[in-house]
Amino acid sequence: MNVIIVTIGDEILLGQVLDTNAWCIARHLARAGMEVVEMLSIVDRGERIAAVLDDVLARAGVVIITGGLGPTNDDVTKRALADYFHAPLVLRADVLAWIEELLDRRGQALNENNRGQACLPEGCRVLFNPKGTAPGMWFERGEKVVIALPGVPFEMEHLMEHEVMPALRARYPGATLAYRVVKVYHVAESDLAHRLAAWEGCLPGEVGLAYLPSPGLVKLRVTARGEKGLEALDACFAGLLEELAGLRFTVGEEPGLGEEVLRRLRGKSLAVAESCTGGSIAREITRVPGASDCFAGGVVAYSNEVKATLLGVSWEVLARHGAVSEPVVVQMAEGVRRLLKTDYAVATSGIAGPGGAVPGKPVGTTWIAVATPRGTAARLFHFSFTRERNIARAVMKALEMVIEAAGDAPPY
Ligand code: ATP
Ligand code: MG
Repeated sequence: MNVIIVTIGDEILLGQVLDTNAWCIARHLARAGMEVVEMLSIVDRGERIAAVLDDVLARAGVVIITGGLGPTNDDVTKRALADYFHAPLVLRADVLAWIEELLDRRGQALNENNRGQACLPEGCRVLFNPKGTAPGMWFERGEKVVIALPGVPFEMEHLMEHEVMPALRARYPGATLAYRVVKVYHVAESDLAHRLAAWEGCLPGEVGLAYLPSPGLVKLRVTARGEKGLEALDACFAGLLEELAGLRFTVGEEPGLGEEVLRRLRGKSLAVAESCTGGSIAREITRVPGASDCFAGGVVAYSNEVKATLLGVSWEVLARHGAVSEPVVVQMAEGVRRLLKTDYAVATSGIAGPGGAVPGKPVGTTWIAVATPRGTAARLFHFSFTRERNIARAVMKALEMVIEAAGDAPPY
Protein backbone atom coordinates (compact mmCIF):
# COMPACT_ATOMS: atom_id res chain seq x y z
CA MET A 1 0.00 0.00 0.00
CA ASN A 2 1.45 3.37 -1.05
CA VAL A 3 0.60 6.69 0.57
CA ILE A 4 0.67 10.19 -0.90
CA ILE A 5 0.54 13.20 1.44
CA VAL A 6 -1.08 16.41 0.21
CA THR A 7 -0.76 19.55 2.31
CA ILE A 8 -3.04 22.39 1.42
CA GLY A 9 -2.44 26.06 2.06
CA ASP A 10 -1.23 29.19 0.32
CA GLU A 11 0.84 29.93 3.43
CA ILE A 12 3.05 26.94 2.66
CA LEU A 13 3.54 27.99 -0.96
CA LEU A 14 4.32 31.57 0.12
CA GLY A 15 7.03 30.28 2.44
CA GLN A 16 5.24 31.66 5.50
CA VAL A 17 4.77 28.30 7.17
CA LEU A 18 7.14 25.38 7.07
CA ASP A 19 5.27 22.23 6.10
CA THR A 20 5.86 20.25 9.27
CA ASN A 21 2.62 18.33 8.80
CA ALA A 22 3.93 16.27 5.89
CA TRP A 23 7.07 15.54 7.89
CA CYS A 24 5.07 14.46 10.93
CA ILE A 25 2.68 12.26 8.95
CA ALA A 26 5.57 10.64 7.09
CA ARG A 27 7.29 9.79 10.37
CA HIS A 28 4.19 8.08 11.74
CA LEU A 29 3.73 6.09 8.56
CA ALA A 30 7.38 5.08 8.19
CA ARG A 31 7.54 3.86 11.78
CA ALA A 32 4.57 1.64 11.05
CA GLY A 33 6.22 0.32 7.89
CA MET A 34 3.94 2.16 5.45
CA GLU A 35 5.57 3.68 2.43
CA VAL A 36 5.06 7.31 1.43
CA VAL A 37 5.78 7.66 -2.27
CA GLU A 38 5.08 11.37 -2.73
CA MET A 39 4.35 14.63 -0.91
CA LEU A 40 2.65 17.60 -2.54
CA SER A 41 1.73 21.07 -1.35
CA ILE A 42 -1.05 22.88 -3.17
CA VAL A 43 -3.07 26.11 -3.06
CA ASP A 44 -6.36 26.53 -1.19
CA ARG A 45 -8.57 26.22 -4.26
CA GLY A 46 -11.38 23.71 -4.59
CA GLU A 47 -10.86 22.89 -8.24
CA ARG A 48 -7.16 22.33 -7.68
CA ILE A 49 -7.88 19.95 -4.81
CA ALA A 50 -10.19 17.89 -7.04
CA ALA A 51 -7.67 17.76 -9.88
CA VAL A 52 -4.88 16.71 -7.56
CA LEU A 53 -7.04 14.00 -6.00
CA ASP A 54 -7.77 12.53 -9.43
CA ASP A 55 -4.09 12.53 -10.14
CA VAL A 56 -2.76 11.07 -6.87
CA LEU A 57 -5.46 8.43 -6.48
CA ALA A 58 -4.14 6.87 -9.66
CA ARG A 59 -0.82 6.20 -7.93
CA ALA A 60 -1.63 5.64 -4.25
CA GLY A 61 -3.93 3.45 -2.18
CA VAL A 62 -4.13 6.04 0.57
CA VAL A 63 -4.08 9.84 0.30
CA ILE A 64 -3.73 11.93 3.45
CA ILE A 65 -4.66 15.61 3.17
CA THR A 66 -4.13 18.33 5.76
CA GLY A 67 -5.30 21.91 5.97
CA GLY A 68 -8.29 24.00 5.11
CA LEU A 69 -10.85 22.39 7.41
CA GLY A 70 -11.41 25.48 9.55
CA PRO A 71 -14.46 27.74 9.73
CA THR A 72 -13.17 30.56 7.51
CA ASN A 73 -13.77 31.29 3.84
CA ASP A 74 -10.26 30.32 2.85
CA ASP A 75 -10.84 26.83 4.25
CA VAL A 76 -12.16 25.07 1.17
CA THR A 77 -11.03 21.47 1.62
CA LYS A 78 -14.24 20.07 3.09
CA ARG A 79 -16.44 21.58 0.39
CA ALA A 80 -14.04 20.31 -2.27
CA LEU A 81 -14.14 16.79 -0.82
CA ALA A 82 -17.93 16.83 -0.57
CA ASP A 83 -18.12 17.76 -4.27
CA TYR A 84 -15.46 15.23 -5.21
CA PHE A 85 -17.28 12.36 -3.50
CA HIS A 86 -20.75 13.66 -4.51
CA ALA A 87 -21.67 13.69 -0.84
CA PRO A 88 -23.95 16.50 0.38
CA LEU A 89 -22.97 18.22 3.61
CA VAL A 90 -25.19 17.05 6.45
CA LEU A 91 -25.35 18.32 10.01
CA ARG A 92 -23.79 15.88 12.47
CA ALA A 93 -25.45 16.33 15.85
CA ASP A 94 -22.58 14.68 17.76
CA VAL A 95 -20.01 16.99 16.15
CA LEU A 96 -22.18 20.05 16.80
CA ALA A 97 -22.53 19.05 20.46
CA TRP A 98 -18.77 18.76 20.76
CA ILE A 99 -18.15 22.15 19.10
CA GLU A 100 -20.69 23.74 21.46
CA GLU A 101 -19.01 22.17 24.46
CA LEU A 102 -15.55 23.24 23.34
CA LEU A 103 -16.60 26.83 22.63
CA ASP A 104 -18.44 26.94 25.94
CA ARG A 105 -15.24 25.88 27.74
CA ARG A 106 -13.42 28.66 25.92
CA GLY A 107 -16.15 31.13 26.82
CA GLN A 108 -17.07 31.68 23.15
CA ALA A 109 -20.52 31.76 21.58
CA LEU A 110 -21.41 29.45 18.70
CA ASN A 111 -21.68 31.30 15.39
CA GLU A 112 -22.79 30.28 11.91
CA ASN A 113 -19.23 29.44 10.86
CA ASN A 114 -18.88 27.06 13.79
CA ARG A 115 -22.22 25.46 13.01
CA GLY A 116 -20.95 24.98 9.47
CA GLN A 117 -18.06 22.97 10.85
CA ALA A 118 -20.52 20.39 12.15
CA CYS A 119 -21.80 19.81 8.60
CA LEU A 120 -19.82 16.99 7.05
CA PRO A 121 -19.99 15.07 3.77
CA GLU A 122 -22.56 12.32 4.00
CA GLY A 123 -21.08 8.85 4.28
CA CYS A 124 -17.61 9.82 5.45
CA ARG A 125 -16.31 8.44 8.70
CA VAL A 126 -15.81 11.24 11.21
CA LEU A 127 -12.49 11.31 13.07
CA PHE A 128 -13.26 12.94 16.40
CA ASN A 129 -10.93 15.85 17.13
CA PRO A 130 -10.75 16.45 20.90
CA LYS A 131 -8.22 19.26 20.37
CA GLY A 132 -10.26 21.53 18.12
CA THR A 133 -13.46 22.24 16.26
CA ALA A 134 -12.58 20.71 12.88
CA PRO A 135 -12.99 16.91 12.82
CA GLY A 136 -11.00 14.72 10.48
CA MET A 137 -12.71 12.73 7.74
CA TRP A 138 -12.13 9.29 6.26
CA PHE A 139 -13.52 8.56 2.78
CA GLU A 140 -13.44 5.32 0.84
CA ARG A 141 -13.90 4.81 -2.85
CA GLY A 142 -13.44 1.18 -3.85
CA GLU A 143 -10.07 0.13 -2.54
CA LYS A 144 -8.86 3.70 -2.17
CA VAL A 145 -8.85 5.73 1.05
CA VAL A 146 -8.76 9.53 1.36
CA ILE A 147 -8.18 11.00 4.80
CA ALA A 148 -8.55 14.72 5.54
CA LEU A 149 -7.06 16.21 8.69
CA PRO A 150 -7.03 19.75 10.09
CA GLY A 151 -3.98 21.88 9.34
CA VAL A 152 -3.18 22.93 12.91
CA PRO A 153 -0.16 20.75 13.68
CA PHE A 154 -1.04 19.53 17.16
CA GLU A 155 -4.63 18.73 16.15
CA MET A 156 -3.39 16.92 13.07
CA GLU A 157 -0.85 14.92 15.05
CA HIS A 158 -3.38 13.91 17.67
CA LEU A 159 -5.72 12.59 15.00
CA MET A 160 -2.87 10.89 13.16
CA GLU A 161 -1.77 9.05 16.27
CA HIS A 162 -5.12 8.19 17.82
CA GLU A 163 -7.43 7.75 14.85
CA VAL A 164 -5.60 7.37 11.57
CA MET A 165 -2.72 5.06 12.49
CA PRO A 166 -4.85 2.51 14.37
CA ALA A 167 -7.33 2.42 11.47
CA LEU A 168 -4.60 2.12 8.83
CA ARG A 169 -2.85 -0.65 10.79
CA ALA A 170 -6.10 -2.57 11.01
CA ARG A 171 -6.82 -2.14 7.33
CA TYR A 172 -3.30 -2.82 6.05
CA PRO A 173 -1.65 -5.23 8.48
CA GLY A 174 1.92 -6.17 7.71
CA ALA A 175 4.67 -3.68 7.02
CA THR A 176 6.02 -3.08 3.53
CA LEU A 177 8.97 -1.02 4.71
CA ALA A 178 11.24 -0.93 7.76
CA TYR A 179 14.40 0.88 8.68
CA ARG A 180 17.10 0.98 11.32
CA VAL A 181 19.25 3.98 12.18
CA VAL A 182 22.71 4.36 13.66
CA LYS A 183 24.41 7.69 14.35
CA VAL A 184 28.17 7.77 13.87
CA TYR A 185 30.07 10.66 15.44
CA HIS A 186 33.11 12.54 14.18
CA VAL A 187 33.74 10.81 10.96
CA ALA A 188 33.76 12.30 7.47
CA GLU A 189 31.00 11.00 5.25
CA SER A 190 33.51 10.05 2.56
CA ASP A 191 35.71 8.10 5.01
CA LEU A 192 32.67 6.27 6.25
CA ALA A 193 31.58 5.47 2.70
CA HIS A 194 35.05 4.11 1.98
CA ARG A 195 34.99 1.93 5.09
CA LEU A 196 31.53 0.57 4.28
CA ALA A 197 31.91 0.12 0.52
CA ALA A 198 32.58 -3.63 0.58
CA TRP A 199 29.79 -4.31 3.07
CA GLU A 200 27.37 -2.14 1.09
CA GLY A 201 28.25 -3.97 -2.10
CA CYS A 202 27.02 -7.25 -0.56
CA LEU A 203 23.60 -5.95 0.51
CA PRO A 204 20.59 -7.67 -1.06
CA GLY A 205 18.70 -5.58 -3.61
CA GLU A 206 15.76 -5.03 -1.24
CA VAL A 207 17.97 -3.39 1.40
CA GLY A 208 19.55 0.04 0.93
CA LEU A 209 21.95 2.25 2.87
CA ALA A 210 21.56 6.04 3.10
CA TYR A 211 24.00 8.60 4.50
CA LEU A 212 22.48 11.61 6.28
CA PRO A 213 25.27 13.94 7.39
CA SER A 214 24.77 16.77 9.89
CA PRO A 215 27.28 18.76 11.96
CA GLY A 216 29.55 16.30 13.75
CA LEU A 217 27.71 13.14 12.87
CA VAL A 218 26.53 10.99 10.03
CA LYS A 219 23.24 9.21 10.43
CA LEU A 220 23.16 5.90 8.58
CA ARG A 221 19.78 4.49 7.66
CA VAL A 222 19.33 0.94 6.46
CA THR A 223 15.96 0.62 4.73
CA ALA A 224 14.34 -2.64 3.70
CA ARG A 225 11.38 -3.02 1.40
CA GLY A 226 9.13 -6.02 0.78
CA GLU A 227 9.03 -9.40 2.46
CA LYS A 228 12.54 -10.45 1.48
CA GLY A 229 14.04 -7.16 2.56
CA LEU A 230 12.26 -7.19 5.92
CA GLU A 231 13.55 -10.69 6.61
CA ALA A 232 17.14 -9.66 5.86
CA LEU A 233 17.09 -6.33 7.71
CA ASP A 234 18.21 -7.36 11.19
CA ALA A 235 21.16 -9.40 9.95
CA CYS A 236 22.21 -6.58 7.60
CA PHE A 237 22.05 -4.04 10.41
CA ALA A 238 24.07 -6.25 12.76
CA GLY A 239 26.67 -6.52 9.99
CA LEU A 240 26.79 -2.74 9.70
CA LEU A 241 27.43 -2.31 13.44
CA GLU A 242 30.34 -4.74 13.15
CA GLU A 243 31.80 -2.60 10.37
CA LEU A 244 31.63 0.44 12.67
CA ALA A 245 33.76 -1.15 15.41
CA GLY A 246 36.14 1.41 16.92
CA LEU A 247 33.99 4.44 16.01
CA ARG A 248 31.71 6.29 18.41
CA PHE A 249 28.11 5.54 17.50
CA THR A 250 24.64 5.30 19.02
CA VAL A 251 21.91 3.02 17.71
CA GLY A 252 18.50 4.47 16.91
CA GLU A 253 17.16 7.99 16.44
CA GLU A 254 17.57 8.28 20.20
CA PRO A 255 19.63 8.35 22.27
CA GLY A 256 21.24 11.58 21.20
CA LEU A 257 24.20 13.00 23.04
CA GLY A 258 21.91 14.62 25.62
CA GLU A 259 20.53 11.21 26.61
CA GLU A 260 24.03 9.78 26.73
CA VAL A 261 25.25 12.59 29.00
CA LEU A 262 22.47 11.90 31.49
CA ARG A 263 23.09 8.17 31.38
CA ARG A 264 26.81 8.60 32.04
CA LEU A 265 26.32 11.08 34.87
CA ARG A 266 24.44 8.42 36.89
CA GLY A 267 22.67 11.02 38.95
CA LYS A 268 25.73 13.24 39.46
CA SER A 269 24.91 16.91 38.86
CA LEU A 270 25.88 19.12 35.93
CA ALA A 271 25.94 22.87 35.30
CA VAL A 272 26.77 24.83 32.15
CA ALA A 273 28.42 28.19 31.48
CA GLU A 274 27.78 29.05 27.87
CA SER A 275 29.22 31.89 25.89
CA CYS A 276 29.23 31.09 22.16
CA THR A 277 26.63 28.32 22.51
CA GLY A 278 24.19 30.75 24.15
CA GLY A 279 22.14 28.15 26.03
CA SER A 280 22.13 25.46 23.34
CA ILE A 281 23.91 22.93 25.57
CA ALA A 282 21.27 23.45 28.25
CA ARG A 283 18.59 23.06 25.61
CA GLU A 284 20.09 19.80 24.33
CA ILE A 285 20.10 18.36 27.84
CA THR A 286 16.70 19.65 28.97
CA ARG A 287 15.15 18.26 25.77
CA VAL A 288 15.53 14.85 27.42
CA PRO A 289 12.76 13.79 29.81
CA GLY A 290 14.17 13.31 33.30
CA ALA A 291 16.99 15.84 32.82
CA SER A 292 16.16 17.32 36.21
CA ASP A 293 17.78 14.27 37.87
CA CYS A 294 21.19 15.63 36.85
CA PHE A 295 20.92 19.07 35.34
CA ALA A 296 21.15 21.95 37.83
CA GLY A 297 21.10 24.87 35.39
CA GLY A 298 23.54 27.31 33.95
CA VAL A 299 24.65 30.79 33.05
CA VAL A 300 24.63 32.22 29.55
CA ALA A 301 27.78 34.23 30.07
CA TYR A 302 27.94 36.11 26.79
CA SER A 303 29.50 39.36 27.91
CA ASN A 304 32.74 39.76 29.82
CA GLU A 305 30.75 41.43 32.62
CA VAL A 306 28.71 38.28 33.17
CA LYS A 307 31.79 36.08 32.94
CA ALA A 308 33.48 38.20 35.58
CA THR A 309 30.66 39.17 37.92
CA LEU A 310 28.61 35.97 37.96
CA LEU A 311 31.24 33.32 37.28
CA GLY A 312 34.21 34.99 38.94
CA VAL A 313 36.43 35.04 35.85
CA SER A 314 39.33 37.37 36.56
CA TRP A 315 39.26 40.74 34.73
CA GLU A 316 42.99 40.57 34.44
CA VAL A 317 42.87 37.16 32.73
CA LEU A 318 40.12 38.42 30.40
CA ALA A 319 42.23 41.43 29.45
CA ARG A 320 45.44 39.47 29.02
CA HIS A 321 44.14 36.38 27.15
CA GLY A 322 40.82 37.51 25.68
CA ALA A 323 37.45 35.86 26.30
CA VAL A 324 38.19 33.03 23.85
CA SER A 325 41.08 31.46 25.70
CA GLU A 326 41.98 28.49 27.84
CA PRO A 327 42.27 30.28 31.20
CA VAL A 328 38.93 32.03 30.69
CA VAL A 329 37.00 28.91 29.75
CA VAL A 330 38.58 27.02 32.66
CA GLN A 331 37.53 29.77 35.08
CA MET A 332 34.03 29.78 33.57
CA ALA A 333 33.63 26.02 34.13
CA GLU A 334 35.05 26.17 37.64
CA GLY A 335 33.03 29.29 38.42
CA VAL A 336 29.67 27.81 37.44
CA ARG A 337 30.51 24.53 39.21
CA ARG A 338 31.17 26.50 42.39
CA LEU A 339 28.17 28.77 41.92
CA LEU A 340 25.66 25.97 41.36
CA LYS A 341 27.42 23.43 43.61
CA THR A 342 27.48 20.65 41.03
CA ASP A 343 29.75 17.65 40.48
CA TYR A 344 30.45 18.55 36.86
CA ALA A 345 30.35 21.72 34.79
CA VAL A 346 31.02 22.48 31.16
CA ALA A 347 31.87 25.86 29.64
CA THR A 348 32.23 27.18 26.10
CA SER A 349 33.84 30.29 24.69
CA GLY A 350 34.34 30.68 20.98
CA ILE A 351 34.06 32.84 17.89
CA ALA A 352 30.97 31.59 16.09
CA GLY A 353 31.24 34.14 13.26
CA PRO A 354 30.75 35.60 10.80
CA GLY A 355 32.47 38.55 12.53
CA GLY A 356 34.61 38.59 15.64
CA ALA A 357 37.82 37.09 14.33
CA VAL A 358 41.05 38.53 15.74
CA PRO A 359 44.63 37.83 14.69
CA GLY A 360 45.49 34.27 15.68
CA LYS A 361 41.84 33.47 16.43
CA PRO A 362 39.88 32.92 13.21
CA VAL A 363 36.13 32.35 13.13
CA GLY A 364 35.44 28.90 14.58
CA THR A 365 38.11 29.10 17.29
CA THR A 366 36.41 27.56 20.32
CA TRP A 367 37.58 26.63 23.80
CA ILE A 368 35.61 24.12 25.83
CA ALA A 369 36.35 23.14 29.43
CA VAL A 370 34.91 20.50 31.72
CA ALA A 371 35.32 20.89 35.47
CA THR A 372 35.03 17.69 37.52
CA PRO A 373 35.67 16.64 41.12
CA ARG A 374 39.11 15.52 39.88
CA GLY A 375 40.09 18.76 38.18
CA THR A 376 39.43 20.70 34.99
CA ALA A 377 40.39 19.93 31.39
CA ALA A 378 40.12 22.29 28.42
CA ARG A 379 40.39 21.69 24.70
CA LEU A 380 40.76 23.96 21.71
CA PHE A 381 38.73 23.35 18.54
CA HIS A 382 38.97 25.00 15.14
CA PHE A 383 35.57 24.84 13.51
CA SER A 384 35.28 26.60 10.22
CA PHE A 385 31.69 26.67 9.20
CA THR A 386 28.78 29.08 9.36
CA ARG A 387 27.68 30.52 12.68
CA GLU A 388 24.89 28.00 13.09
CA ARG A 389 27.12 25.01 12.34
CA ASN A 390 29.95 26.27 14.54
CA ILE A 391 27.52 26.51 17.44
CA ALA A 392 26.11 23.04 16.71
CA ARG A 393 29.63 21.58 16.64
CA ALA A 394 30.56 23.28 19.90
CA VAL A 395 27.43 21.85 21.56
CA MET A 396 28.31 18.34 20.41
CA LYS A 397 31.93 18.60 21.48
CA ALA A 398 30.93 19.96 24.87
CA LEU A 399 28.49 17.09 25.43
CA GLU A 400 31.12 14.59 24.33
CA MET A 401 33.65 16.05 26.74
CA VAL A 402 31.13 15.62 29.57
CA ILE A 403 30.52 12.03 28.45
CA GLU A 404 34.26 11.33 28.50
CA ALA A 405 34.74 13.03 31.87
CA ALA A 406 31.82 11.15 33.43
CA GLY A 407 33.45 7.86 32.52
CA ASP A 408 32.10 4.45 31.63
CA ALA A 409 28.44 4.07 30.89
CA PRO A 410 26.29 1.97 33.17
CA PRO A 411 24.73 -0.96 31.32
CA TYR A 412 21.34 -0.23 29.73
P1 ATP B 1 -8.29 26.00 11.42
O1 ATP B 1 -9.44 25.36 12.10
O2 ATP B 1 -7.33 26.61 12.39
O3 ATP B 1 -8.63 26.98 10.33
P2 ATP B 1 -7.47 24.31 9.25
O4 ATP B 1 -7.70 22.87 9.12
O5 ATP B 1 -8.32 25.19 8.40
O6 ATP B 1 -7.52 24.76 10.74
P3 ATP B 1 -5.37 25.76 8.12
O7 ATP B 1 -6.25 26.95 8.19
O8 ATP B 1 -4.94 25.27 6.82
O9 ATP B 1 -6.00 24.56 8.89
O10 ATP B 1 -4.10 25.99 9.02
C1 ATP B 1 -4.20 26.41 10.36
C2 ATP B 1 -2.81 26.75 10.86
O11 ATP B 1 -2.07 25.54 10.94
C3 ATP B 1 -2.03 27.65 9.90
O12 ATP B 1 -2.01 28.96 10.33
C4 ATP B 1 -0.64 27.12 9.94
O13 ATP B 1 0.13 27.85 10.87
C5 ATP B 1 -0.77 25.72 10.43
N1 ATP B 1 -0.54 24.79 9.33
C6 ATP B 1 -1.38 24.50 8.33
N2 ATP B 1 -0.84 23.60 7.49
C7 ATP B 1 0.37 23.31 7.98
C8 ATP B 1 1.42 22.44 7.57
N3 ATP B 1 1.30 21.68 6.49
N4 ATP B 1 2.54 22.40 8.31
C9 ATP B 1 2.65 23.17 9.41
N5 ATP B 1 1.70 24.00 9.85
C10 ATP B 1 0.57 24.08 9.15
MG1 MG C 1 -8.00 27.55 8.54
